[in-house]
Amino acid sequence: MNWITNYVRPRINSIFSRREMPENLWTKCDECGTMLFHRELSGNLNVCTNCGHHMGITPRARFAALFDGGLFTEVAVPAPTPDPLQFRDQKKYPDRLRAAQKETGEKEAMLVATGEMGRTPIVAAAQDFSFMGGSMGMYVGNAIIAAAEEAVKLKRPLILFSAAGGARTVLKIVVFDEADYRWARDVAGRYPALPLYLQPGNHTPPPPDDDAATVDQAGIDARMRWLVERVVADGWFTATVLPQLHVTLWGNRRGV
Ligand SMILES: [Zn+2]
Repeated sequence: MNWITNYVRPRINSIFSRREMPENLWTKCDECGTMLFHRELSGNLNVCTNCGHHMGITPRARFAALFDGGLFTEVAVPAPTPDPLQFRDQKKYPDRLRAAQKETGEKEAMLVATGEMGRTPIVAAAQDFSFMGGSMGMYVGNAIIAAAEEAVKLKRPLILFSAAGGARTVLKIVVFDEADYRWARDVAGRYPALPLYLQPGNHTPPPPDDDAATVDQAGIDARMRWLVERVVADGWFTATVLPQLHVTLWGNRRGV
């Protein structure tokens, strides 16, 4: 039928059948409510065998399905600063992280690996929704950078699987000046099917550690108006202009 059915799935089935899978565990399909044995569900790549509903899949299971023979090599991700924001809601962030590690058996919310897909060498990074909703902390940032660097180093394509709601928001380009705007148009020209968001940047961001720094909101608003007018004047209706927000919050100098 196709290479996924003929080539990958039999191999995946053999991988899953080799592993110790308790037969008495089952999962309820979110869509149709059918009780499915874990083994049956895993063998069908987490797609309900009754209604065809696609359930979540962990990066490890995804890579086992994606790479030829289920074989891949993990790419090391540099460890981030632990708990940089000292964030706390009902729980302290490090406690939340430890609980997620215990529950999933994974270190963090993204896995990076190299291997072959249909005999083409690639690099892949996959986000793990079961790990704190795919929490995009510093580790996930480091993982994306590590994946990109590995792809450049090995001259391979990079495939990025995002699994958090916010991470699905396609491509965003922060526009500071005419040159950035032209660059955004070039990107849109090269990838016409890709929705593109534009965001006006802040030319004079405060240093991230300076609480007393003020934000030039009037300047940002003016840049926003310029950008909206420019997009409308160019008849560029497929690009969406987003309000400037986290460039201000993070004091990011050049983009997001
Ligand atoms: Zn179902």
